Amino acid sequence: MPPRPPASQLLQDRLRAAYPDAKCALDHADPFQLVVATILSAQCTDARVNLTTPALFARFPDAPSLAAAPLLELEALIRSTGFYHNKARNLIGLAQALLARHGGEVPADPAALGALPGVGQKTANVVLANAFGVPALAVDTHIFRVARRLGLSKANTPEKVEADLCRTFPREDWIELHHQLIFHGRRVCDARRPDCAACPVLSLCPTGRGKLKDPHLGVRFQPPPEGEAAPPAPTPRAPSPTDTTLPQRIISLVPSVTELLVQWGLAARLAGRSRFCIEPRWIRNTVPAAGGTKDPDLVRIRDLAPDLVILEKDENPKAVADALDGLGIPWLALEIRSVQDCVAALRLLGERLGVADLAEPMAKALAVRLKGRRRKGPRALALIWKEPWMSAGPDTYVGDLLRQGGLTPVGPDRYPVLTDSDIEALAPDLILLPTEPYRFHARHQTALQKRFPSTRIELVNGQALTWYLSRTDQGLDLVQGLAGTS
Ligand code: SF4
Repeated sequence: MPPRPPASQLLQDRLRAAYPDAKCALDHADPFQLVVATILSAQCTDARVNLTTPALFARFPDAPSLAAAPLLELEALIRSTGFYHNKARNLIGLAQALLARHGGEVPADPAALGALPGVGQKTANVVLANAFGVPALAVDTHIFRVARRLGLSKANTPEKVEADLCRTFPREDWIELHHQLIFHGRRVCDARRPDCAACPVLSLCPTGRGKLKDPHLGVRFQPPPEGEAAPPAPTPRAPSPTDTTLPQRIISLVPSVTELLVQWGLAARLAGRSRFCIEPRWIRNTVPAAGGTKDPDLVRIRDLAPDLVILEKDENPKAVADALDGLGIPWLALEIRSVQDCVAALRLLGERLGVADLAEPMAKALAVRLKGRRRKGPRALALIWKEPWMSAGPDTYVGDLLRQGGLTPVGPDRYPVLTDSDIEALAPDLILLPTEPYRFHARHQTALQKRFPSTRIELVNGQALTWYLSRTDQGLDLVQGLAGTS
């Protein structure tokens, strides 16, 4: 393979450093769910699709059930994603074609995928890349805009932009680049108001530096004043395992921190986890579990000989830290009660673990996202448990996530127990039923809707709503989708 032009290499290094968590934003558990979610995402936000699919997949979990779906029922389930008449017909046609041609399985072959009803080149590429790991670079509206602003293509169709990108970047980087460009388009290079002053690739961007008229808006930008440009982000790296000043045997009792450490390339330094640390899935087979979050197995922890245990004050009781003190094991306790707390926590973890170069761009991007005034949106109650009902109050991380995303959290502070009458008295416009910590299901949504017929009830991704750090951006996308501010 010929050597890469230095600018494209540098561009990807910076995107990699700024978006180490870049990945498919459509929630899915298998190729079937992904192809369905991708079809629904046409002319719709990923956040809205993620609100729709839990109930859809609970009712129609596979190709045989979807192939026999009653059209009107399917339309009602996907109505909020728009164009639901066409999408419903395509989904039933897709499921019937999967049954007739592929035994009900999604094929990993581009031609066979592209021949399925409702599956165009973009959908086929998304499924190939994210479900099967086949290098592909689907150009959506964000990539189309960002690529042209960055001068990576002058073409005026997504297909030609895709061809230009595939020529510029090596095949093995296509999947990663696809997600990085989408994240960059969503978080910084906004269609109408790109934040060039905070952009990690400003020095490589002819549009941001005013050298090229913005191909999207048709105007020439004023370059940010000297000194305001974001400093170039260093290439991500895992710290040397021989650096004995840094913790090398880390136990994380916090699910989203465990996921974050893996995203930062620190999996080899994870000596243990709580049994609720289940993402990414492969760590269940490679990193030993040491009890739960409230009741960690202290004997197991001692035997794993950690040089740092990471805790979070809401998730792990103080008694755990006291017990670790008694065992002479160092610990670090985060305290996350707001989205802003995540900015400080990212920096603290980056510093303590020797990966400030990975943490800082994430912290900075999140801080940029939190800038500006929030409108007071619909009153929202986030239930986190059933029998008895419990909610996440306005002073919790979940409460602040709702606020930052454009909703108004209601209810008492902390994690109160509520009766049906309490919920009625709170008069929420919207009740959220996350899929964890309690495993709320479509039948709970139906039952609650009957009890509160004039309240909007939404089944939502529990990890997006309740996990922080590795999931905060996903959570903000989710809430903005609910509030209609995305
Ligand atoms: S400098 Fe501005 S236009 Fe260029 S990629 Fe960054 S945000 Fe987009």
